[in-house]
Amino acid sequence: MAVPKSKITRSRRGMRRSHDALKPQAHHECDNCGELKRPHHVCSACGHYRDREVIVAVEPDYDDDEAA
Ligand SMILES: [Zn+2]
Repeated sequence: MAVPKSKITRSRRGMRRSHDALKPQAHHECDNCGELKRPHHVCSACGHYRDREVIVAVEPDYDDDEAA
């Protein structure tokens, strides 16, 4: 097993972890329904993208036999 040659000081550990903080998830209000959505993505609530285009009409298909 690899063994560290010397102690990592609190300072050095802190410097390493200075990049570890999580940034808040990017979000934007949908132009159509106002729901929060990810930028450059189709709105998951109403299926709109770029104002007026309806891209998806999500309707689950329960008749599918393949689903286990
Ligand atoms: Zn929407």
